[in-house]
Amino acid sequence: MLKPVQHYLKRHWQRLRPGTSCALCASWLPPGLALCEGCETELPWLGAHCQRCALPLSVDGLICGGCLADSPAFDQVLAPWRYAFPVDSLINAFKHRDQGSLGRLAGALLARHLQHLFDEGQPRPELLLPVPLSPQRLRQRGFNQAALLADWLGKPLGLPVNAKLLQRVQEQHSQQGLTASERRRNLKQAFALVSEAELTGRHLALVDDVLTTGATADSLARLLKRAGVRRVDVYCLARTPPPGE
Ligand SMILES: [Zn+2]
Ligand SMILES: [Zn+2]
Repeated sequence: MLKPVQHYLKRHWQRLRPGTSCALCASWLPPGLALCEGCETELPWLGAHCQRCALPLSVDGLICGGCLADSPAFDQVLAPWRYAFPVDSLINAFKHRDQGSLGRLAGALLARHLQHLFDEGQPRPELLLPVPLSPQRLRQRGFNQAALLADWLGKPLGLPVNAKLLQRVQEQHSQQGLTASERRRNLKQAFALVSEAELTGRHLALVDDVLTTGATADSLARLLKRAGVRRVDVYCLARTPPPGE
């Protein structure tokens, strides 16, 4: 008598079990997970990297030549992945096609990565600051991916977010072919602090999707340190490999 019901349950068990599917391979997942174990293992995890700027290196625990020659204003970059497949596609989809669910997934994984580091003694910041977009770029894109990411980190980590403190006052000119000091001068004029209240001695973290040259993060960290901030970390999803790789 119950046979049809059993048959139905057997056939549709996957769909009836509470859970979801892996965002990358669509296999079934128990509730609370976004990626299956296989897909998560295969992500381009950062591995050995520069202790300041997170540039991928062949040996861990070192500071890269670039940071030794020209020490960045930020203290440490924390990124779980190299900017490589499928993290690059995930970030691009999120950034250019407003794929909020992919961004949310990446944000959740980054939050978990950071929480793990905090549990292991990495100092927790007091406030998250998304890297700002210019008003012009914001109008074109309709959203600031760094601000969304900061919100998705702030909630699970219990950290406040201030998306108004840092402003991009000027569209960034092309940085190509400029020397480091020219780049710095160029960027220095691009950002402003809305208020310098109560920044002295604080530990803040900048949030962005990808860290490429680090020039933007360096410029913002310099601005914050001039206002008395004690420590500036940078949290991002991915770090690009050294040029030419
Ligand atoms: Zn999967
Ligand atoms: Zn470095």
